[in-house]
Amino acid sequence: MTMKVLGYAAKSAQVPLAPLEFTRRDPRPDDVVMEVLYCGVCHSDLHQAHNDWGFSTYPLVPGHEVIGRVTAIGKEVTKFKVGDFAGIGCMVDSCRECQPCQAGLEQYCEVGNIQTYNGIDRHDHTPTFGGYSQAIVASEDFVLKMPVGLDLKAAAPLLCAGITTWSPLRHWNIGKGSKVAVVGLGGLGHMALKLANALGAEVTLFTRSASKEADARRLGAHHIVLSTEDAQMTAAKGQFDLIIDTVPYVHDLMPYIPTLKVDGTLVLVGYLGDLSPMLNTMPLILARRSVAGSCIGGIAETQEMLDFCAKHGIVSDIEMINIQDINEAYERMVKSDVKYRFVIDMASLKA
Ligand code: NAP
Ligand code: ZN
Repeated sequence: MTMKVLGYAAKSAQVPLAPLEFTRRDPRPDDVVMEVLYCGVCHSDLHQAHNDWGFSTYPLVPGHEVIGRVTAIGKEVTKFKVGDFAGIGCMVDSCRECQPCQAGLEQYCEVGNIQTYNGIDRHDHTPTFGGYSQAIVASEDFVLKMPVGLDLKAAAPLLCAGITTWSPLRHWNIGKGSKVAVVGLGGLGHMALKLANALGAEVTLFTRSASKEADARRLGAHHIVLSTEDAQMTAAKGQFDLIIDTVPYVHDLMPYIPTLKVDGTLVLVGYLGDLSPMLNTMPLILARRSVAGSCIGGIAETQEMLDFCAKHGIVSDIEMINIQDINEAYERMVKSDVKYRFVIDMASLKA
């Protein structure tokens, strides 16, 4: 027995998203079934719909910033009851036994975490489908509790954009006295500004968009550097403990490296692939600087971030859309024209 649900899917890399009816499994003993209320739109949804990373399988139902209401639970579920609000981020399972899983780093599971969509369930080997749909089913261990007080619509993007920027901020011990820079003011970038500011850091935004300056200040940046202005880049030399680079496409890292302090780290969270132009090692070696990468965050760390956001009144700045507008939203995202995250009102699926 399975349940039929309606969603929006890419049927290939070349066509726009369109409605698709598909099935969800009945809950296994540890599963939670959620009616999807809201789903954030991440640039990764667009990358995967278009097969930018080369591992998309179709039909592909995107969506990994999922907020819903629990409608059924398996018989072993203890964390949730019917009626609870809950969230699902970028992964729905992992092996749970390897060293990273045991350490709460399920995103770095040695077998590979199971992505919320474009993944394969490790029990029944069926494809996973994301939150651009009426309902979703996942193991309770990968479902987040939504703290009271968070606006649910605006909290959806915390489940990917929030945790992906929170995790490096925590890993590199950012707090009072730290100097952090963020490259790119989109979904991830605006959460990075808010979170770094709330952790007490002095925060700088690198952007190509002069028009985003006032917003950046409101979102938590103390300083703005136009990355297209050489004089401004030169003036920023030797300042940062950590740079979080959220840019989704290949770009030159070399202008940013000298803005790191001795021992500073530039962590890539946006672009997956070969760097071009190549890195020159000189500014790395001469100041023991690092270039690193970081992938979302673990489940416990995601809950920690949600609770921190509730305590500090942090949510995403969102523009609500209907699911029928998703293709236009993707086009706007490619033009960096999003302030600062689209969230789909899933009630529109019924229209
Ligand atoms: P987004 O909302 O589209 O924001 C990206 C921002 O980067 C833009 O607003 C723009 O900011 C800047 N930008 C865009 N194209 C650029 C280019 N060619 N050169 C320089 N800057 C550019 O995207 P997002 O949802 O934040 O996602 C960002 C990236 O993170 C995506 O590639 C996504 O797949 C990835 N991601 C990674 C993880 C992870 O676990 N590591 C998790 C989620 C998402 P300005 O206008 O300020 O320049
Ligand atoms: Zn995402």
